[in-house]
Amino acid sequence: MAKIIDGKTISMEIKEEVKEQMEKLRQEGKKAALAVIQVGADPASSVYVNNKKKVCAYVGIESLAYELPEETTEEELLALIGKLNGMEECNGILVQLPLPGHINEDKVIDAIDPRKDVDGFHTKNVGALCVGQRAFLPCTPAGIIQLLVRSGIEMEGKECVIVGRSNIVGKPMALLMLRENATVTIAHSRTKNLKELCKRADILIVAMGKPKFIGREYVKEGAVVIDVGIHRNENNKLCGDVDFEDVKDLCSAITPVPGGVGPMTIAMLMKNVHEAVSSAATENGR
Ligand code: NDP
Repeated sequence: MAKIIDGKTISMEIKEEVKEQMEKLRQEGKKAALAVIQVGADPASSVYVNNKKKVCAYVGIESLAYELPEETTEEELLALIGKLNGMEECNGILVQLPLPGHINEDKVIDAIDPRKDVDGFHTKNVGALCVGQRAFLPCTPAGIIQLLVRSGIEMEGKECVIVGRSNIVGKPMALLMLRENATVTIAHSRTKNLKELCKRADILIVAMGKPKFIGREYVKEGAVVIDVGIHRNENNKLCGDVDFEDVKDLCSAITPVPGGVGPMTIAMLMKNVHEAVSSAATENGR
């Protein structure tokens, strides 16, 4: 049986660290506030937004909630972001995605002051990450690096295959693994011989959005498997992109769903908000 990479425990460690750091900042007379903007009342988004508010309260970050109606125009949203950019007491701005179809997400993300872009999605932060400069790192891929580091899994020189090339997971994940000196391959829906490719991986990271797609025929014996996918199955139970039961005896370590990558995203968001306040972003994002 593989080692289970415990995202619940590791994310709690990070939240405790941020809580301590926030307490230190408070003693220096500094405060932190995160603006969380939700447009429309998508139930899944509401769950994510509420979780973010709860964790903010836990670590000592004030959350400024903006719950806007579905029919909010792009101009109105851009005006709010402009206002928050100029508010000194607001350190981070998060726009919950997806936005309703009539609003251009790219335009909205690029309207956020890059120094307040705690999601790490602004093109300036993405570009900085790409050329190895200091940047806010996208929370899910940065959380995966933390899972690997804190589980003692070596990345340097390892063959890493990432399935998925989205802007929020696959692409930044590849850049972060490169930064850790892994040899990186990115696979996507047009990749040929996906099985053979995945079977080469010492570290296989799956972010494809296809429930239980990856079975043991994709996994090399002893590989580390990181499952980013989150789905509800027919019994309303959560599952990932990896068929956990099928691969768990073959790999050396694996993240479960739930309790693997999922909890890391909010923890890393809190870390980014702290960095926005203290301007203490480290060069290697650890
Ligand atoms: P996207 O749908 O944006 O991207 C999916 C990627 O997988 C695409 O690059 C797509 O290729 C690729 N893909 C799809 N089908 C195949 C296939 N058959 N073979 C190879 N590649 C394939 O998803 P996200 O990156 O946003 O999310 C991925 C999963 O991770 C989802 O389940 C999502 O819910 C979850 N997620 C979890 C988070 C967490 O906090 N744990 C955070 C973010 C996402 P192509 O580009 O060619 O279409």
